[in-house]
Amino acid sequence: MLMQEERDLIVEYGQKMSAARLSTGTSGNLSIYDAERGLMAISPSGMDYSSIRPEDVVITDLDANIVDGSRKPSSEWALHTAFYRRKPHARSVVHTHSMYCTTFAVLGQPIRAVHYAIGDAGTATVPCAPYHTFGTAELAEAAMEVCGESDAVLLGNHGLVVCGKDIQSAYGLACNMEYLAELQYHAMSIGTPNILTDGQMAQVLERFRSYGQPEHGRTGY
Ligand code: 13P
Ligand code: ZN
Repeated sequence: MLMQEERDLIVEYGQKMSAARLSTGTSGNLSIYDAERGLMAISPSGMDYSSIRPEDVVITDLDANIVDGSRKPSSEWALHTAFYRRKPHARSVVHTHSMYCTTFAVLGQPIRAVHYAIGDAGTATVPCAPYHTFGTAELAEAAMEVCGESDAVLLGNHGLVVCGKDIQSAYGLACNMEYLAELQYHAMSIGTPNILTDGQMAQVLERFRSYGQPEHGRTGY
């Protein structure tokens, strides 16, 4: 089977994402991109994460032409390939409907620098894209229009999408974004959060460049 290792990781992280309640039911999707081959391994559409087997993962090119696999690929393939086309470091994309991120997405509000861990997204603010129908090129384009330097974007009235240098980083960032959104929600429900300044966040981003074990590179925060 083509891209066996990537297929296994999609199954493993799909189960993690579901167990961590970052997605409910069949919502959300994941992919891993092999830039050398120009192929991605992407979760199948509408399948329960507990039932997905490696052979259910679909291998496609960036135009969603199926190269290997018998399932229909995720309806959000255009959202995933938009990251691979526009962000040279992106090797994995994770999309969730996690509760707190989606709460701010419903409000059309960004996640702001209420905690320095937002630096994991590579920016001080995680923007929110305007609403578009799920599974459309318009949704993918809207996410790209607002993301700038950020590796994470809220999708209006929908959820969160992130990218990373591998699936561990992308999944870790999706978890961090949910933590940040929950923190922002709690802070806003009892007061007005202090937002870190651009200068404070610039220092955080600089420190993050050398955070963690040098031999592994940064794998998220
Ligand atoms: P798929 O099951 O097609 O991946 O779609 C789930 C989803 O979250 C759509 O936005
Ligand atoms: Zn979705």
